[in-house]
Amino acid sequence: MEPIVIVGTGLAGYGLARELRKLDRELPLAIVTADDGSSYSKPNLSNALAAGRTPQQLVGASAETMARQLGAAIRTHARVDAIDVPGRRLLFADGELRYSRLVLALGAEPIRLPLEGNAAHEVLSVNDLADYARLRERLEGALRIAILGAGLIGCEFANDFAVSGHPVDVIDLAHQPLGRLLPAEAGRAMRDALSRAGVRWHLGRTVAAVEHAPPGLEIRLADGARIGADVVLSAVGLRPRTRLAQTAGIAVNRGIVVDRALETSAPGVYALGDCAEVEGHVLPFVMPIMHAARALAATLAGRPQRVSYPAMPVVVKTPALPTVVCPPAPGRSGGWTVAGGAHSLAARFLDADGAMLGFALTGEECSKRQAWTRELPPLLA
Ligand code: FAD
Repeated sequence: MEPIVIVGTGLAGYGLARELRKLDRELPLAIVTADDGSSYSKPNLSNALAAGRTPQQLVGASAETMARQLGAAIRTHARVDAIDVPGRRLLFADGELRYSRLVLALGAEPIRLPLEGNAAHEVLSVNDLADYARLRERLEGALRIAILGAGLIGCEFANDFAVSGHPVDVIDLAHQPLGRLLPAEAGRAMRDALSRAGVRWHLGRTVAAVEHAPPGLEIRLADGARIGADVVLSAVGLRPRTRLAQTAGIAVNRGIVVDRALETSAPGVYALGDCAEVEGHVLPFVMPIMHAARALAATLAGRPQRVSYPAMPVVVKTPALPTVVCPPAPGRSGGWTVAGGAHSLAARFLDADGAMLGFALTGEECSKRQAWTRELPPLLA
């Protein structure tokens, strides 16, 4: 019997395999990945530097250990080039792998800004362990860091670098950090808390070019201003990996389109994690992956289950200002009501009838997280 094949060994791929093994130890299972198959928790990448953790120290288990634990054949450094959907085969540069059912857990890739300048290719992004290793290498002997993007990941790295003793400049087109997630008051509080930690902000401004300026680099902003840096990190967002599915004729939109059974437009082919779009939701976070992994494992084990999502708050890992946010579902209209001040703030996103659709909490108010989450409607009932 051909195995169920999972492509990807991130939290989605390994998470699904673990859930499946809780239900069925016998189903033949194979996992393939373009990387080395190390099991690690990606959220640690943006707070590992201050904690002094090397890439090796972030690895929970090697691919060999995972293969033993999961009773699965794991192929590492094996990039899938194409999917032959009618033939139920994955195609690699050096061979093929047949599957009975296929799960795409391909993750997302960093968006690259179209930058000018002779050092544009020096801009880093950190989206996996190998990226983090590259960052650590580049930081040796380097001091000044510039971050492009003041979203969740940009703010977390800014905090981590600043605490590690680096001067940090953050540049973003938006006028406040975490502009898409937080009300203005909380955005200002985040800006001020990170400023106190040593972060310099360049908000409402765009980067035009990155040039060599020995011994370091220089960022040129669209308004002509220049910022010196030794390392430039881009954190402007992620885009679901859809190309493999798209070229195989599987429906994609922002992500790989799946139904509530997490099945794509191709019967027997499923997707979850950062690459997937579930009923219009692209949710690149850990909690949705856990819910999806449990539901899909049940389906693959012969007990069909639809995924449901409760309200799922996200912890922003900025010790300078502890923050939890549960944004309203896209397209829901309403407004923020904010109580509290710079160090501790509780904000509710309310609809016209006064029902809470989302929240943001900072400082000591973060203790309200569980109680407020219970008040929110589920994202997918
Ligand atoms: P990935 O971990 O990206 O795994 C994708 C896998 O697919 C990899 O193994 C890759 O090798 C493989 N692959 C891709 N293409 C191919 C191919 N063609 N052939 C073979 N293999 C392929 N979320 C939170 O909820 N809380 C947080 O605090 C948080 N912090 C974060 C901090 C950072 C710095 C980042 C980058 C993300 C953070 N996230 C956080 C998001 C969270 O980590 C992700 O949602 C999650 O890790 C995604 O897992 P995944 O398995 O879908 O993708």
